[in-house]
Amino acid sequence: MKRARVVFAGAIHEATPFDGKLRLSSGRLVKEDLVTWLPPFEPQTAFALGLNYADHASELSFNAPDEPLVFLKGPNTFVGHKGETERPEDVTFMHYECELAVIIGKTARNVKKEDAYDYVAGYTIANDYAFRDYLENYYRPNLRVKNRDYCTPLGPWFVDRDDIKDPMDLKLRTYVNGELTQEGSTKNMIFGIPQLIEYLSSFMTLSTGDVILTGTPKGTVNVNVGDEVITEIEGLGQLSNTIINRT
Ligand code: MG
Repeated sequence: MKRARVVFAGAIHEATPFDGKLRLSSGRLVKEDLVTWLPPFEPQTAFALGLNYADHASELSFNAPDEPLVFLKGPNTFVGHKGETERPEDVTFMHYECELAVIIGKTARNVKKEDAYDYVAGYTIANDYAFRDYLENYYRPNLRVKNRDYCTPLGPWFVDRDDIKDPMDLKLRTYVNGELTQEGSTKNMIFGIPQLIEYLSSFMTLSTGDVILTGTPKGTVNVNVGDEVITEIEGLGQLSNTIINRT
């Protein structure tokens, strides 16, 4: 099942797609353009992988890591489908990153990779924008690069785990103003979903609502104010975002 969280008429509702519209949990049908989309779940601890596709690492002139390179994101950074993300005036290189987001569904500690999918509740799309001007090196926390307000669109749908037959074989695509600029497949991750859950749960407890942003393939290009960026993953839909000036 696919479900969204939306604001309609002053209240937050769960919504499912129905005949080109949204069906709210109350049963009421509303047009999509009458709602404000929230991230489809409330993220708890949010992990993000750096350089988890070899082709993206090489386009940035980095070596592929031999152990997962993980950083954390705070709740300030998430924004829903059809949201807006600011491009700071002083940056010269801001790029999107289309990523499969894996949502944890139950407490996980010392999970073996063979059992990892038992701990997955579902999936959504993340757009993990990066502001490369602020990147100093990988030995400093990259807050100004990766944790700015509303710079991580998430959604539109929370898709149940069992609705995705093989999450390690999904096409990812990004379109900027309708033009295809990024294309890849989750099968080219360096560390796959089972390995990431095994790795993280080997030294910390994962909990319901934690989310892992699994990295992005090559094809990350600069975006500008006014651009509409659509990140798409097979089976999960299309997540739209618009780049704006300072608000
Ligand atoms: Mg990323």
